[in-house]
Amino acid sequence: MRIDIIVVTRDEIMHEYIGLRKAASIPRESRQKNFPSHAIVNVASFFYSNVDKTSEFHAYISRLRHASDFIIMLYEYELQKDLDRYFDCLFTTSYETHSDMNTHNYMSMMLSKTAKSFNIFYRYFSDQKFTKIMLLPLKNFEASELVRLRGLFRARITSATFPKELEDRLAELRRRQTPKKFSTYQTVYLRDDGDRYFSYGNERHSQVESQVPPHSLECGFNSCFRFGMKYDATRHFNVSQAKPRDKIAGQFWNCHGSLQTVPPQSHINMFPNDFIA
Ligand SMILES: [Zn+2]
Repeated sequence: MRIDIIVVTRDEIMHEYIGLRKAASIPRESRQKNFPSHAIVNVASFFYSNVDKTSEFHAYISRLRHASDFIIMLYEYELQKDLDRYFDCLFTTSYETHSDMNTHNYMSMMLSKTAKSFNIFYRYFSDQKFTKIMLLPLKNFEASELVRLRGLFRARITSATFPKELEDRLAELRRRQTPKKFSTYQTVYLRDDGDRYFSYGNERHSQVESQVPPHSLECGFNSCFRFGMKYDATRHFNVSQAKPRDKIAGQFWNCHGSLQTVPPQSHINMFPNDFIA
């Protein structure tokens, strides 16, 4: 397993510090305690010197996408707007540029906190019970609990309350698990507020598409990474109505955020990034 931690900074001192220390930027004890023993942990810095760095940064992350199994991004708070497209696919947290602490102490603290949260999150994500909940299509699965889960990963992974909040959000979403009333099958679904039933299928008969255009750059990232973790891009959800014979149809969000009209069918093949096959 390869874990990549990227520090995105506009500060030359920070860039140099991370570049020199690399994985040793994380205190040894935290590194040993929080990452799997077989994992290769890389820490690197990306120098985001000006606003034109967007495409360069994207190319950088694109290369990582093929090599890495988990990507963590620590970014300067001021870069939030530039980087928000990565918030659903990477494990992200911001840091303050005006800390009173020196670079070494501050980054040791930030990276220790991030490593601790990674450890908690990784254990949940590796558990099949929770994997499918974490992979729910973020645009189409209607549930305020899912909005809150997404919000947790956008702002609070290094907060002291992260473990408890994550546990609570996942427990809330698990309460949406249900079999279908009118079905003899034992399949367990996750039901959303639109009374649509989502089951995470094992079949791999269709493929996600992400060519730009019509897709956006995010579509590709979101098709294989969720909250930092690489997932199986060939599996999708089957989305259907409560009664087995009822067809599903209507308007659904696609992966790049446009509405797509789906004609009546037994079920919809929907990938975790909302791509509809
Ligand atoms: Zn797309």
